[in-house]
Amino acid sequence: MSVERISGGSSLVSCPPREKWDDWHEWDAKEWPRRVERRYMLVPTICFNCEAACGLLAWIDKDSKRIRKFEGNPLHPASRGRNCAKGPATINQVNDPERILHPLRRAGRRGEGKWERVSWDRVLEEIGGRIRKAFLEGRRNEVMYHVGRPGHERTMDRILKAWGIDGHNSHTNVCSASARLGYALWSGFDRPSPDHARARFILLLSAHLESGHYFNPHAQRIVEGKLRGAKLAVMDPRLSNTASLADFWLPTYPGSEAAVLLAMANVILDEGLADLAFVERWTNWAQYLEDRHPGEEPSFVRFLESIRAHYREFTPAFAEAESGVRRERIVEVARLVGQARGAFASHVWRGTASGNLGGWQVARALQLLTVLTGSFGTPGGTSPHAWNKYKPTFWEEPPGQSEWNELLFPREWPLSHYEMSFLLPHFLKEGRGRLDVYFTRVYNPVWTNPDGMTWMEVLQDESLVGLHAALTPTWSETAAFADYVLPMGHGGERHDIQSQETQSGRWVSFRQPVLRVARERMGESFEYTYQANPGEVWEEDEFWIELSWRIDPDGSLGIRRHFESPYRPGEKLSVREYYRWIFENAVPGLPDAAAREGLTPFDFMSRHGAFLIEDERHVKRLDAKTEFPTPSRKLEIWSRTLRDWGWEQEALPGYVRSHVHRGRLDAGKGEMVLVPTFRLPTLIHTRSGNAKYLNEISHRNPLWIAPRDAERLGLTSGALIRVSTEIGYFVNRAWVTEAIAPGVVACSHHLGRWRLREGEGSRWSTAHVAFEKRSESGYLLRQVEGVGPFPSADPDSRRIWWSDAGVHQNLAFPVHPDPISGMHCWHQKVVVGKARPDDRYGDVFVDTARSMDVYREWKALTRPAPGPGGLRRPLWLDRPVRPADAMFKLG
Ligand code: SF4
Repeated sequence: MSVERISGGSSLVSCPPREKWDDWHEWDAKEWPRRVERRYMLVPTICFNCEAACGLLAWIDKDSKRIRKFEGNPLHPASRGRNCAKGPATINQVNDPERILHPLRRAGRRGEGKWERVSWDRVLEEIGGRIRKAFLEGRRNEVMYHVGRPGHERTMDRILKAWGIDGHNSHTNVCSASARLGYALWSGFDRPSPDHARARFILLLSAHLESGHYFNPHAQRIVEGKLRGAKLAVMDPRLSNTASLADFWLPTYPGSEAAVLLAMANVILDEGLADLAFVERWTNWAQYLEDRHPGEEPSFVRFLESIRAHYREFTPAFAEAESGVRRERIVEVARLVGQARGAFASHVWRGTASGNLGGWQVARALQLLTVLTGSFGTPGGTSPHAWNKYKPTFWEEPPGQSEWNELLFPREWPLSHYEMSFLLPHFLKEGRGRLDVYFTRVYNPVWTNPDGMTWMEVLQDESLVGLHAALTPTWSETAAFADYVLPMGHGGERHDIQSQETQSGRWVSFRQPVLRVARERMGESFEYTYQANPGEVWEEDEFWIELSWRIDPDGSLGIRRHFESPYRPGEKLSVREYYRWIFENAVPGLPDAAAREGLTPFDFMSRHGAFLIEDERHVKRLDAKTEFPTPSRKLEIWSRTLRDWGWEQEALPGYVRSHVHRGRLDAGKGEMVLVPTFRLPTLIHTRSGNAKYLNEISHRNPLWIAPRDAERLGLTSGALIRVSTEIGYFVNRAWVTEAIAPGVVACSHHLGRWRLREGEGSRWSTAHVAFEKRSESGYLLRQVEGVGPFPSADPDSRRIWWSDAGVHQNLAFPVHPDPISGMHCWHQKVVVGKARPDDRYGDVFVDTARSMDVYREWKALTRPAPGPGGLRRPLWLDRPVRPADAMFKLG
């Protein structure tokens, strides 16, 4: 075959045509000026470096059978061939000379740093046997799976239900649970799906263009919307790259956003801009009147009168006082939102919702604007996620489990939208239970969660955590405290199905182990994916199938039958059969599309990597038959659920004064508010730690501080500072900038990675640290050495020129569980000052006794179950891996 040129006429072709993906030839640029030809097979997969699930194409050298690079997959309907820096950096993760290649078992005390290599067979036997014993002894709640980045659709739901356990824990309550609850209370759907590309006005409460939720797919469509004439407003106390590209930057004081949104609602109502016919047709206004004005005439006019009286206090002047944003600007934006009628796209996911006490009310207030402008489920508006997202079904579904695990959904937080995951160590310390087998999967709570020191204490206590298995593609601060470290695949090393509500349209994509696929196409065959991956890096799907058979080898527990083939009765399910069944039976339109190309549905997905189920012209819209999964079947402006569960004052979309509201700061102590929630667009929590490209770009997280505040404190850029929290302090450097509102400081997460010992953390990103016990409950983390060159098989490791690893701020944060949503409220009251003489860059001090006190202070804000009917939780509110309905009843 002749060598193809990557050019076509006068314009560059960015990707070879799909018909040539099996055998693509080109010159090797690195060999220039010599002409050396390379032969590639291009295999699609999905990026695993954030939730967006963009398409990737792995370029596999057919001679060396190694992955040469990852680029975008132009056939993916959401990313369309475009990726952020983290997508191509997958190649760094695959080739990292320090990656974990084989299963490891601890050989000393837990956390001592001694490891021995073991076989997968031994891992399965030991863990499977222990789980089986727990099940036989009726200790099902002692087995827990705790996930950071899931990356698959419904797989674990099915597995855990098949095991009959209430053991699913997630990271969601340190991430998005707050906004989700706000959305769910309106419509029963806990995610929005804005149609940015066709909007007339876009309002973002986050930095979507640079780093927000569904970062790259959303960013593309926001830019498209702007190019078509849409205006963009961004609420953020920080001048993010997104805010700098917006038509309006609204630098709201942290936590004041709902006040601004409600003031906008008032303007829209006052100026006759609201779509009142929409509000009358689709909301449960009649229930509001029935409950709040019993005996009065049940007319929509009366409802409007009452609601306007209720919101009267949210004037632009009030919003200005709360937020610091000029009232004229608030009115101007409100008018544009109202004039966008039917085409107002908006989104909040983390940002203010995850930072503040009552942050879930921000999502409710934002949806109020969507409803008032009639932009719900319209082209250019905002739809519920389920209308645009695909979820697979299976050939058989295990029933809901007959268990309720109070370590996940304790009675104090009956409306918690997800598991109270970040309180797990606090619950264990309080004696609420123990864990016999604890899986962490792509999850690093010691480093990611608040109060990581308490996590460390608990993970080292074998009476509380009997066995800890860390399923992880990289070393992490948490894996160092495991009994088993089990290497799992990166984006191109495992199977998954993913679909996200990134746009108006519905798609499904297929992550696959690209080396296995390529080598099988070249004639080899493998029983397990780890046989084709680097070392013995495995994938979760096959691991769980194998483990399930070890737990129930003779089928007597009723577990094994859920892991038998739908094609070969009684025999073990293969990973190919699992996806084959879904693609053949559960993806509308896929079999026909495949047949048109002469492919099976599985081969179509393997060769395209994704399939567009419905495009924007065919997505669901509101029609006469539409009902919502809420108790009233309407959009709920008035929540009887909140009323019935003791929160009547919050039952309308409202404004909760945050725990960092100005009125709650002690001016005498010099308290300020710290915004610790923003991310750098090039980093990913833990997994970017072993991506050299990304660490070279981003490796420090100084404290943003406004010039006015810096001057008052006598600070200049680069000055060493101590930032004191409720439970300790951290030492960082100042960055004096106009890009942050006065009175507010900000520090990005994703940095401050550390390792206790050589071999337990990536040296591209971690500082070597030591812990010093300063009192019964006081610990100091101090950096012994920063990042530096090191010898390895990758010559770039000797060329590391940066020495900074950043500062681990989360360690110094106490837990702040919101009493309603259960979300950790990330923002912190802090005192900023010059560093003390013995402070060193990167120091973090924490008193864990004090952190337990703060936990108890927040717990005291709750209003525990039972609620109406003796329930632990309202039956209509969903929860992950939903148990049988009978389990919702307390007692
Ligand atoms: S936005 Fe970036 S990190 Fe996220 S899936 Fe897409 S390419 Fe990967």
